[in-house]
Amino acid sequence: MLKLSQSAYTSLRLHGEETYPHECCGILLGQMGDEGVRSVTSIARAGNTRTDSAHNRYNIDPSELVRIQREGRNRGEDIVGFYHSHPDHPAQWSQTDHNEAHWIGCSYVITSIEKGKAVLTNSFELSGSDESDKHLVDEQVDVA
Ligand SMILES: [Zn+2]
Repeated sequence: MLKLSQSAYTSLRLHGEETYPHECCGILLGQMGDEGVRSVTSIARAGNTRTDSAHNRYNIDPSELVRIQREGRNRGEDIVGFYHSHPDHPAQWSQTDHNEAHWIGCSYVITSIEKGKAVLTNSFELSGSDESDKHLVDEQVDVA
C-alpha cells in the first residue's frame, strides 16, 4: 500500500497538468514501513530527459536521481517510488513502463491527464525478486 500526504498527491497531479501534453516524471520520497506500506512525505520533480518522444516516454537523469536521493537522506527520507503521467492515456502501466521499472519493492504511480486535467492516479508495486520475474501489481493508494 502507498500512503501519500495530501500535498504530495496534489503536487504530483499538478505536475502532470503543467507538462501536458508531455509526460512529467518524478520521485517519491518517504519511509518504507512494515508489511510493504510505503509512506510518501515529499516528492521531487525531475526533468524528462526524453525529448525525442516526451509524450509517451520518460527518463530520469541518473545524476539527478543521485542528487535527489542524497538530499532526501539528509532529511531522513528514502526513495520509495516514482511517478509519471499519461497524457490522454489510461492510468495503467505500459510494456515500456514495465521494462524500465527496476526498483523492486518500490511504487510506480501513474496519473492520467485528459485534455490537461488530472483524472485518475493509480499505483503499482514492483514485485518479484529480480529482473527475470519482476511484475507490476495494483496497490491501494491512501491519501491522508
Ligand atoms: Zn507510462
